[in-house]
Amino acid sequence: MDTSNLKPIWDSCLAMMEEECTPLAFSTWIETLSPISYKNNVLILSTDNEVSRSMVSKRHATLIKQAFKNVTGELPELEVVINARPGEEESPSQPEGQGAAEKYTFDNFVVGGSNRIAHAACVAVADIPGQVPMYNPLFLYGGVGLGKTHLIHAIKNYINENSPDKKVALVTSENFTNELVDSIRENKPFEFREKYRKMDVLLIDDIQFIAGKKSIEEEFFNTFNVLYESNKQIVITSDRPPEEIKTLEERLISRFKWGLQCDIQPPDFDTKLAILKNKAQEINLNIDDKIYYIICEKVRSNVRELEGALNRIAAYKSLVNREITVDLAEDALKDYGPRDSSVLTPEFIIRQCSEFYGVSVEDILSDKRKKEISSARRCTMYVVREILGLSYPKIAAIFNKDHSSVIYAIKETDKQVEADPRLKVSISDLIKDIKGI
Ligand code: ADP
Ligand code: MG
Repeated sequence: MDTSNLKPIWDSCLAMMEEECTPLAFSTWIETLSPISYKNNVLILSTDNEVSRSMVSKRHATLIKQAFKNVTGELPELEVVINARPGEEESPSQPEGQGAAEKYTFDNFVVGGSNRIAHAACVAVADIPGQVPMYNPLFLYGGVGLGKTHLIHAIKNYINENSPDKKVALVTSENFTNELVDSIRENKPFEFREKYRKMDVLLIDDIQFIAGKKSIEEEFFNTFNVLYESNKQIVITSDRPPEEIKTLEERLISRFKWGLQCDIQPPDFDTKLAILKNKAQEINLNIDDKIYYIICEKVRSNVRELEGALNRIAAYKSLVNREITVDLAEDALKDYGPRDSSVLTPEFIIRQCSEFYGVSVEDILSDKRKKEISSARRCTMYVVREILGLSYPKIAAIFNKDHSSVIYAIKETDKQVEADPRLKVSISDLIKDIKGI
């Protein structure tokens, strides 16, 4: 296998590993690696510093090897090196962190019924930021992998290109939080404030993560007001509508409703097909229409998974070095679609719930009584029981709790689910996602 074949394989590995580790571990240690070569069963990856080299070698080698095996069928030896460059035939790699974001433009966003309004609103805002009060703030929401991050980056890239004099800040709410915390620690809160309050356009991705963090919400609220009052454009994305972000302050919820809220729905069949064809063209992949249909059938809604499946096909194609047939595609995608029971272990389910609720696995399994944690714990117990149908004593053993508190937690959740239709839908979506149906 030459190095040029390694990129799609590595992309598939990344997609897989992203599901398997915490977002922080993924973005810090895994996503920053570059694939260099795979020869004589040795996979060489490169990083730019020693800390990362040793962390990856010690802590993440098994995960990486396993992901590589899942994609290629071969279990490699792993070597992590510092600052290696891919072979001459590779094009120079983009600076870290830039590559992904720059590729998100309006040009390569496929518009369909499920995202038409959201797309139109984003284009409007990018064209004349802050000038249409009705679109300020623009609040985009929708499930995971449906294109929110893509659109918000597209707004930034468009403004940078077409109105280079405008100052645009794009941050995730996690980074906003970290920056604020750092600025307070370093005694420079003023600089932080200045930075955001002098922007012409403020784009915040995944706002749901600030919910419940009072001082951060307060700072954001003030920044919001300063910008809003001087007709600066604000765009916010979230995985759910404002009123469903539990623990988000009322006054922020009501601010978010001042402008336009747009949801992005899962793509329909035609949109999925168009997205796949677009992406295939980007990576120079030539496959039969039948193969696209197989992918559309296997991947229900998430566009990121759609891309992952296509990358997997590309990886297969370069490995077997011949045309992809329907059988090969079925084989390459056998992990997609409903997950089988060997994957649906209690650990797997707990990990998925931890991601969903934004509460660490450790906290879910702890005795901590903080509201978000105990609520996530109760829902996780409920989900484990719904999916696996285990007895209360078995669940008690998994969570290391006593029998009666498990019964209480599950019955209580059951009552809440019955009483609250929104909770019912969100839990049943979570269960479907975990089962992959
Ligand atoms: P979200 O932020 O909603 O979780 P992302 O914006 O990260 O989702 O999208 C996941 C992947 O799917 C990205 O690679 C993105 O480019 C791609 N994607 C999503 N929707 C579309 C679309 N309509 N057209 C092209 N690519 C899309
Ligand atoms: Mg996103």
